[in-house]
Amino acid sequence: MALLVVGSMAFDSIETPFGKTDRIVGGAATYIAWAASSFVQPVQQISVVGGDFPQQELEELAARGVDLSGVQIKKNQKSFYWAGRYHLDMNSRDTLVTELNVLADFQPVVPAGFRRAEYVMLGNLSPDVQLSVIQQLEQRPRLIAMDTMNFWMDTQMDVLKKVLNKVDALLINDAEARQLSGEYSLVKAARTIHRMGPRYVVIKKGEHGALLFYKNHAFFAPALPLEEVFDPTGAGDTFAGGFMGYIAHSGDLSFENLKTAVVVGSAMASFCVEKFGVQRLKEISSDDIELRIRQFVDLMHFDIDLVQ
Ligand code: AMP
Repeated sequence: MALLVVGSMAFDSIETPFGKTDRIVGGAATYIAWAASSFVQPVQQISVVGGDFPQQELEELAARGVDLSGVQIKKNQKSFYWAGRYHLDMNSRDTLVTELNVLADFQPVVPAGFRRAEYVMLGNLSPDVQLSVIQQLEQRPRLIAMDTMNFWMDTQMDVLKKVLNKVDALLINDAEARQLSGEYSLVKAARTIHRMGPRYVVIKKGEHGALLFYKNHAFFAPALPLEEVFDPTGAGDTFAGGFMGYIAHSGDLSFENLKTAVVVGSAMASFCVEKFGVQRLKEISSDDIELRIRQFVDLMHFDIDLVQ
């Protein structure tokens, strides 16, 4: 079973109340690939980088079972660069710099060997790029999931609606769900988004967990109460990688299994925030992941004896 991923691979500079990094490797597809490859291989990566992107990072991903034949390397150009600064509560951040560089005219090319993918994760990128990837597929995947952000809602709502109409699952944060639907209630927001296309809607609330909506069902998974959140960058993408990696690995699209996938995504995101960039995702073993998932189960489990 393979998972096709499209998204940015980038350099990020991050400032949090606990520290600062200069130009570390990031990008949505980088986080997705590191998280998903814990569960499914190959991850079929589609992205673009400049000649400045470290060869060693590509080699480490390849060693994890990430097939990079869909990653274009533009030798004479620079990789996408993003800089952000977090506020003390870590739930909000300011974007300080966005240099599109190679992303500015990115034309994704899906290699022939990737065109029959059964599971697809469209990372946060221009909806034009997301649509182009869907259009190059030779068969309808079993599950297409996508991420997006307020910027695309503000600037390319028409194309974004076309993409939404073609996907099965949307993974976004609460503010984005409210903006997309025009509804404050997340229950109403999910219902409105269902009508736009996706039958599964996952709404992420940062340190307050994640909600999964499907038909009339709703499921909630908390975020693990961590003593220290060091750097939230990429937590959403890591969640997506864990969620889709687990679904691709299990091949089970039942609501019950998607609930498990939300817990797996939350567990992976809880690792991501413990260190800068993808550092922590590189270190963890399958035992660490299993233990962390058990912590979630313990956190969420309770028995009730209702006294009549
Ligand atoms: P997240 O914290 O989940 O929102 O994702 C952060 C990652 O998204 C960073 O590693 C950035 O490189 C990447 N990123 C930020 N802005 C954009 C953008 N406009 N397009 C694509 N990727 C982006």
